[in-house]
Amino acid sequence: MVGRKPLVDPLRIINAVLYYKSAVLEENNGVKKIVVASNTVWSDISNRLGGSISKSALYIFVQQGRHGIHEKLGIGIANKRLDSENNVQSVEPIVAFDESSDSSGDNVDNLPSKHFTITLSVDEWKQIEPNEVLYKNKNSFRSYLVLPKGSWTNILAEHTWMHTNLPCCIAFRRAKVTDEGNHFIVIDGRCSICYSYFKGVIFEKPSENSRVLMECTYTGQFDDPHKIIKKRRLTGKAKINVVSAIVNCGKSSETYREFEAVRLMKPGDPEPAIIPSGGALRTLKWRHNSEKLRNKDTITALALMKEEEEYKNVLQDMGCFPFFLHYQSSEQIHVYRDYCRNCPQPKIIIDATGSVISNFKKCGMEKTKSLFLYEILVYDASKKHSFTVSNMISERHTNIAIFNWFARWLNCNVPSPKETVCDQSLALISAIVQCFTQYSSLQEYLNVCADLTLNQLDSNSHWLPRCFVRTDVAHFIKMITR
Ligand SMILES: [Zn+2]
Repeated sequence: MVGRKPLVDPLRIINAVLYYKSAVLEENNGVKKIVVASNTVWSDISNRLGGSISKSALYIFVQQGRHGIHEKLGIGIANKRLDSENNVQSVEPIVAFDESSDSSGDNVDNLPSKHFTITLSVDEWKQIEPNEVLYKNKNSFRSYLVLPKGSWTNILAEHTWMHTNLPCCIAFRRAKVTDEGNHFIVIDGRCSICYSYFKGVIFEKPSENSRVLMECTYTGQFDDPHKIIKKRRLTGKAKINVVSAIVNCGKSSETYREFEAVRLMKPGDPEPAIIPSGGALRTLKWRHNSEKLRNKDTITALALMKEEEEYKNVLQDMGCFPFFLHYQSSEQIHVYRDYCRNCPQPKIIIDATGSVISNFKKCGMEKTKSLFLYEILVYDASKKHSFTVSNMISERHTNIAIFNWFARWLNCNVPSPKETVCDQSLALISAIVQCFTQYSSLQEYLNVCADLTLNQLDSNSHWLPRCFVRTDVAHFIKMITR
């Protein structure tokens, strides 16, 4: 038969299949047969061949025994007959332990191998311990023992790292549990970078409340440099732990990674696949935070919050075009009043920063201009601590916008400050003068200050400014050094 020239050299396919011989074959009632088409080994082989042949094409290649692959795998024609049973098998979660799988691969014998014993603590075993699950099989039900989803792979990955210190990213694929016989649990997995093969066996069913030993072998080219860096996908309990650290406890992604590195690594170790990448952590955090949003649109979400019992007294005033938000809690008001009771000359520090709040789309339309976070701070010298009194987020930075915020804060019946400190922003200084002194403009305030320094104003005069406006040294130095 004359056909097209094959895209991939059949010899390469055969070599790749033989490399995975132990995973390609399984033994049932003493008959070796090819694993089902849905088995992940086909995609592994396809990956090994650089994706030049699809996993289903590979399955067909092996299943139909092309280029004498059956003889090379050491199986007979009986396999074809068993194929219909193959499909039935695929719905069953367990099959009898394949005794031949670790000795059948001659090519595996030449590969480097590591042997180690994982000791699972009582607590870890409680998370891994097989459960009984019922499966429908035609008209009857059969019960199987399976490992509970979600934690066993993470626990094994961490133990394997502790024993091997390899950069391998092992995907655990099968866990066979057999109640009778001399292999209680058999687990296999493969590094998705170097394709090394992991096999772990718990020989006997452990007694209650005892530590459990798993005999493990790891075979393959694991010492070769891993050029691609792959990370374990965060699942189950590992994911819950990460979420609790970075979302609930507010730890930054990089701090979390540092803590994990201190816990798991020694100097000189490669970064293990079980420490998630910073990007993955940030995405997870973002996803979790956006799930908690009341609404995708920030303005709508704030409007909804304003109606909530918890926030209705915190969010004082807000506007949309341009966007602004004034907020402070009643506790902040109480602390400030308390401070003023003990301090006859209350002093506030006002600052604004543009680097903390990112822009957002207003009602799905235009994006906000640069948003500044404004803050009124107080340093309590007697108690030696500072606290925030009020905040504003605003896209407008005029003195009217700032004045409105101050006025709203004073309207909460708080004592007016006798001294303010801020940077050289004209809008800020003007707003301070208009709100906290008896003068309507900065110019008038400066005139009065000039009179005062030239002794042209009596120190008891009612024209004496009610608030002393100061600009801070740090900002002044920064300005003149530019
Ligand atoms: Zn590897």
